[in-house]
Amino acid sequence: MPFPIKVCVVCSEEFELKPDKPGYANRCPTCSEPDAAGSAGKLRMDADERKSIAEANEARRQAMKNLLYRKDS
Ligand SMILES: [Zn+2]
Repeated sequence: MPFPIKVCVVCSEEFELKPDKPGYANRCPTCSEPDAAGSAGKLRMDADERKSIAEANEARRQAMKNLLYRKDS
């Protein structure tokens, strides 16, 4: 009996959903691995991206504040 073919929600690859497959039922074996370079690397990049955006916003806020102070005095 063939295993059902599922499409991985992470990488969109088709894979056989075997009864003993570890991890999520909607993820291929590669993407089910906790240390899969793809998802882990993406998460880290998103965190870095968020951090640099926050830093840029903070820098912009500081610049605006300096500008306002200079205008007031
Ligand atoms: Zn996958």
